[in-house]
Amino acid sequence: MSEQRKCAHPPCGCMVQEGKKYCSQMCEDSKGVASIRCDCKHPACTAT
Ligand SMILES: [Zn+2]
Ligand SMILES: [Zn+2]
Repeated sequence: MSEQRKCAHPPCGCMVQEGKKYCSQMCEDSKGVASIRCDCKHPACTAT
């Protein structure tokens, strides 16, 4: 059973592939930054 997981970057609502923690390099680079919103450019995050 492969379950999709959410990106480890709190403001990000994207799903990540199995075995990954972040949906993108952008989110991984943001892990030490207290950002309010995600800037990964994925549709799920750019939608207002
Ligand atoms: Zn995102
Ligand atoms: Zn993300």
